[in-house]
Amino acid sequence: MALIEETKRLVAQFDYSDEDVNKSVKEFLRQMNEGLEKEGSSISQIPTYVTGVPNGTEKGLYLAVDLGGTNFRVCSIHLNGDTTFNLTFNKVAIPKELMVAKKAEDLFAFLAKQIEAFLKEHHEDHFAAHIRRRQTVSTPEGYRDEHIFRLGFTFSFPVQQIGINKGTLIRWTKGFDIPDAIGQDVCALLQTEIDKLHLPVKVAALVNDTVGTLMARSYTSPGKTATLLGAIFGTGTNGAYVDKVTKILKPVEGEYDKSTGDMVINTEWGSFDNQLNVLPNTTYDIELDKKSVNPGIQMFEKRVSGMFLGEIVRLVIVDLIKNPNVAFFKDDNSSTNDLKSTTTISPSSSVFTQWGLDSAIMSVAAADSTPEIYSLRQALEKQLDIYSASLEDAKAFKDIAYAVGRRAARLAAVALGAVALQSGKLTETPDDIIDIGVDGSLVEHYPFFRDMIYEALAVIDGIGPEGAKRIRIGIAKDGSGVGAALIALVAAEME
Ligand code: ADP
Repeated sequence: MALIEETKRLVAQFDYSDEDVNKSVKEFLRQMNEGLEKEGSSISQIPTYVTGVPNGTEKGLYLAVDLGGTNFRVCSIHLNGDTTFNLTFNKVAIPKELMVAKKAEDLFAFLAKQIEAFLKEHHEDHFAAHIRRRQTVSTPEGYRDEHIFRLGFTFSFPVQQIGINKGTLIRWTKGFDIPDAIGQDVCALLQTEIDKLHLPVKVAALVNDTVGTLMARSYTSPGKTATLLGAIFGTGTNGAYVDKVTKILKPVEGEYDKSTGDMVINTEWGSFDNQLNVLPNTTYDIELDKKSVNPGIQMFEKRVSGMFLGEIVRLVIVDLIKNPNVAFFKDDNSSTNDLKSTTTISPSSSVFTQWGLDSAIMSVAAADSTPEIYSLRQALEKQLDIYSASLEDAKAFKDIAYAVGRRAARLAAVALGAVALQSGKLTETPDDIIDIGVDGSLVEHYPFFRDMIYEALAVIDGIGPEGAKRIRIGIAKDGSGVGAALIALVAAEME
């Protein structure tokens, strides 16, 4: 029974007790408030200049563009004013040579051309009317204000935001490298190229995808409840929530609407507890971090998000394969082990390569409750070249994946629970629902992820089972579309 015992021992390392959850919530709150006080703290708490969330009655036609990696997406969103919207979009791959263009202008001119093509294809009337108008009106201001599209620009690279439609590029990531763009305002770069084409478009808002998620959820939220938090659990993890301006003790430069008293804060919680005061730290977490491109950074994200969970599972699995005392994923019928395995694993299996195990297989494992664990065994074969996995081996894999997934969900609950407590809504407005919008493959597709989050929320001091019932976690789709449009709307109202 060596495999069963060894699996139990490994699984136990990923236990995250109720006491651990509570300790982490306290520390999360401490680090959140430290981020509101000063720069350079673990949780950055970046003011976004968005000072309110929609309630579903917003109306109008807006544009949104999303530059985040391999593709550029242009969409128009018609907000119907009844929590529904219609979205039309075009998606184009960014040519590789433009990702490393000599001048920022080359990339942004390409983006402006895609906006022009989109308008011609989908908003011909609007576009033609604008062209006619432009020919008859003498001053640019004369045509700039009417019939003009407000555009929300989702730009998923590190920027220093200094206004609702102003932010300077800190550095490129994800294979982009155009040095002269660094330090420039990305909204101005796009606007300049849009203006060269005389398009009726104003870049009204610079959008962080998490803030987009919050806005999208708040617009569509059932019962028109204002959403408190938008959170992403996909490749990475992050959250944006609404806080009182009075709680932001560090200076907020730039203009914003002071009438609401609120400010949406982009937490950048992926870096919660980089100093490891409270985060769990198994040998596998240590190994993952050491071999990552950014050791010591994004420590919360490395235990919670889709990009990393598969890698943690992989490291545990490889350890188990290498363990000479355990018959796991070994074709070992002749041994004296009481547990005989029929499994064969190809030496070129991607399980032996860093990042070779996609977190998606954890969902397959969690969803498979058949006695033969058939779907998981099939996935092991297809995705990892692990053939004829024995039932015992598949079971061990499933248990390990579950342990890593459960710990991630409980850590996710730490972040959600801390924000719920920070809002004061649990005590100040005891009848209200606390609405949270979430997006990302992990929370959308991993079975029981939300259930495990709720289970952990219910044990948090100050929330408890009753409080957990008042927290409503719902999927928020399309933050970079409808969410960006809503931020453009908020920005237009401030003009
Ligand atoms: P992004 O965050 O980049 O917008 P996604 O929300 O689709 O994209 O998240 C992608 C991440 O989620 C990848 O790291 C992938 O391994 C992981 N993932 C994709 N599908 C699943 C799934 N069914 N279960 C768990 N993780 C998944």
